[in-house]
Amino acid sequence: MPARILSGKPIAEAIKSEVAAQISELRASRGFEPCLVVVRVGEDPASAVYVGNKVKTSLEIGMRSEQRHLPDTVSHAELMRIVRELNGRDDVDGILVQLPLPPQIDAREVLEAIDPAKDVDGFHPVNVGRLSLGEKTLVPCTPAGVIEMLKRSDIPIAGRHAVVVGRSNIVGKPMATLLLQENATVTVCHSRTVDLPSISRQADILVAAIGRPGYIRGEHIKEGATVVDVGINNVSDVSLANELFGEEEIEKRLAAIAKRGFTLVGDVNAKKAKDKAGAFTPVPGGVGLLTVAMLMKNTLEAARSRSMV
Ligand code: NAP
Repeated sequence: MPARILSGKPIAEAIKSEVAAQISELRASRGFEPCLVVVRVGEDPASAVYVGNKVKTSLEIGMRSEQRHLPDTVSHAELMRIVRELNGRDDVDGILVQLPLPPQIDAREVLEAIDPAKDVDGFHPVNVGRLSLGEKTLVPCTPAGVIEMLKRSDIPIAGRHAVVVGRSNIVGKPMATLLLQENATVTVCHSRTVDLPSISRQADILVAAIGRPGYIRGEHIKEGATVVDVGINNVSDVSLANELFGEEEIEKRLAAIAKRGFTLVGDVNAKKAKDKAGAFTPVPGGVGLLTVAMLMKNTLEAARSRSMV
């Protein structure tokens, strides 16, 4: 049977409408609107797209939003000053500094300077600590989105074996923690894991967050498993695209490469996953859409906690 495609769009739309309804209720009852400030440094084209989506989505759901765009020559001291200024502004509920940052900036120090109560990316050590203790906190948006995707698609998590491939601080580690909190049995794999396929093939839920296009193939997937593809990679190589996509999709992919020089692909070989998995998330159109929706949810939660409403 062909795998069920877990589309992110309806789930992201549902989350955004829930957040929009709560904002509208807060505005009507208390004249109060959450506010997100996104700080972008330099001219990285991917960052420009991500930040643009975040600001656009905020406005669509009735949230106030500001973008602070700084030149890529901005000093570390100046960026720290801006973060402290935003921490001190009572009308700002969420602060997000878009990564990557240029080399003169100490990204870790900047992220740690954000008030944990306004840290809507969930990267501050206080929030990371609370998450690992199982306390209520601001959770990184992408792994939180994966959990929403699984729950709202009626994929059982408790008691299942979840294998997370990748152990980054922004995806793999918080993903493993969240799956554990949902009572999955969790295995975390990484670049030093020996014989990855023999481990990933045990997964009922396989999450790929590696950053290598199409790396997870049929041999990595148990028949009927749910495969969640977090990866976002640009592929411009036509022969690689041919390896990753079947006849129903390849024309569209080759047209994208011809038109803009690349097509967006995940860490999973979609052609192989389709034959083996029970369900899988497409790229684009899967987990990526949930990341922005969860950022909206986090900003609303930050605003509620700060105002105790
Ligand atoms: P990252 O910081 O580069 O981490 C990659 C992880 O994959 C590392 O833990 C690395 O292991 C592991 N890895 C690399 N090669 C491997 C291999 N051959 N076998 C097993 N593990 C391997 O990347 P990230 O920030 O977590 O992002 C992962 C992917 O998700 C990227 O494609 C990124 O663009 C995407 N992403 C998507 C969203 C979204 O909104 N959908 C958000 C964030 C990231 P080591 O630790 O041993 O090096």
